[in-house]
Amino acid sequence: MAATATGRKLLIGGDWVETGEWTEVRSPYDGSLIGRVVKAGAGETRNALDAAESAMREPIPAHERAAILDRVAALLSERADEAARTISAEAGKPMKAARVEAARAVSTYTMAAVEARKLVGDAVPMDASPAGVGKLAFTLRVPIGIVAAISPFNFPLNLVAHKIAPALAAGCSVVLKPASQTPLSALLLAELETEAGLPAGWLNVVCGPAGDIGDVLVDDERVKLITFTGSSSVGWRLRERAARKRVNLELGNATPVIVAADADLEDAAGRLAANAFSFAGQSCISVQRVYVERDAYDSFLERFLPRVEALQVGDPADEGTDVGPVIAESERDRVLSWIDDATSRGARVLSGGMLDGELLRPTVIADAPRDAKVSSEEVFGPLCTITPYDTLDEAIALANSTRYGLQAGIFTSDVKSALQAASDLEFGGVTVNEAPTFRADQMPYGGVKDSGNTREGPAYAVREMTEQRLVVLQLR
Ligand code: NAP
Repeated sequence: MAATATGRKLLIGGDWVETGEWTEVRSPYDGSLIGRVVKAGAGETRNALDAAESAMREPIPAHERAAILDRVAALLSERADEAARTISAEAGKPMKAARVEAARAVSTYTMAAVEARKLVGDAVPMDASPAGVGKLAFTLRVPIGIVAAISPFNFPLNLVAHKIAPALAAGCSVVLKPASQTPLSALLLAELETEAGLPAGWLNVVCGPAGDIGDVLVDDERVKLITFTGSSSVGWRLRERAARKRVNLELGNATPVIVAADADLEDAAGRLAANAFSFAGQSCISVQRVYVERDAYDSFLERFLPRVEALQVGDPADEGTDVGPVIAESERDRVLSWIDDATSRGARVLSGGMLDGELLRPTVIADAPRDAKVSSEEVFGPLCTITPYDTLDEAIALANSTRYGLQAGIFTSDVKSALQAASDLEFGGVTVNEAPTFRADQMPYGGVKDSGNTREGPAYAVREMTEQRLVVLQLR
């Protein structure tokens, strides 16, 4: 039986396990105690790998994997309110956004079930070369092996779903290490997977010190793939250390968007105000750098700033709240210091820039130097910069001028400008007349440059989590 929401145990080999040590989970909003989780270390992680290894000795047929995924989607739909409250409590995410995340996780499971049902290899046109005449060949998609999944705090339910649902669709067992700040949403999903009939050992969840657990996942040869979402520094280091494994990275961004003078400014202002500050800017594709064509700069600001100022800052548990806390006081203070750095070098604060109680108000900055941290690094807080530009080439060069490349956007009514942006923006995805914060869960989602090396979305993740095995038949 699962432990209660306030005292969650680890899931290892189908059992809910205690170690005698517990870690507290506290609200990023007011520090109140949300729950406790059992603390794992290297020993429990090895036990989890043993369980994952023995699970894979008895493969589950695709139709059963798909049925389990569908049942998780149904159970999660029924318990969407509880899931949203769990996300909101442990991540400090406003309920509005937490409800969207819970609904998206249902979609992720639904899409993964589809992929489980249609997982096939390719036919190879053998007689296309003289060497292949008289032979028939095709590939099978076989599970890569044990998947280690490491997830971040900011989408504690849906980004866990994006790892464990495709892994099951692909026929891989998983050892999951959720972010220490947000283990409860992950353990809720684990509970739903067991309730949906997942046999023992296919999903194992270990919570505890990242270094201890991470070292085992990196060093153990039974782990064939590490799927990591989180910061660039941790992600690329893991990849260097796990040279013989497939290491799939979904990392940060300093998300740019271009607003051309021919755009619908009203629409752009509305979408960008919402998407620069939702969850206090703590989404990897939160709008951070807004480049506005000089002719439209003042008109855009006239529409944008009142919308930013109307955002409700406060308790994430209140249904009306738009912007809650950043994840930790130290992170809030880091963002404040980046604002100070920019203003000391000539930037102007157009809105926010100060605390509202303990919370940082949505902050809009103009005239930030190009090499200021707010213009070049990932802020991961409720802040965006506004910068005028004169030509589209200049705007694209500015957008490309960071080490990141996850998603970018353009607002324009000119199809040529849209297509130029799609062609020249060096990002994994480009949105046109939509904020680059947009994501639907079936999309291929991922970055280039420092933002990562893979694409998530069940159809794409399942391919990453399988190997192609070639079969060649001599016909005569
Ligand atoms: P983080 O600090 O890098 O942590 C991510 C995960 O890695 C956590 O589970 C963390 O565990 C774990 N970890 C830390 N050090 C480790 C180590 N040495 N070995 C193994 N695991 C280790 O990132 P975060 O602050 O949670 O998340 C924010 C970042 O994620 C931002 O940069 C954001 O842009 C990025 N992100 C990217 C995407 C995407 O899809 N591209 C989506 C969401 C977020 P602990 O929590 O225990 O430290």
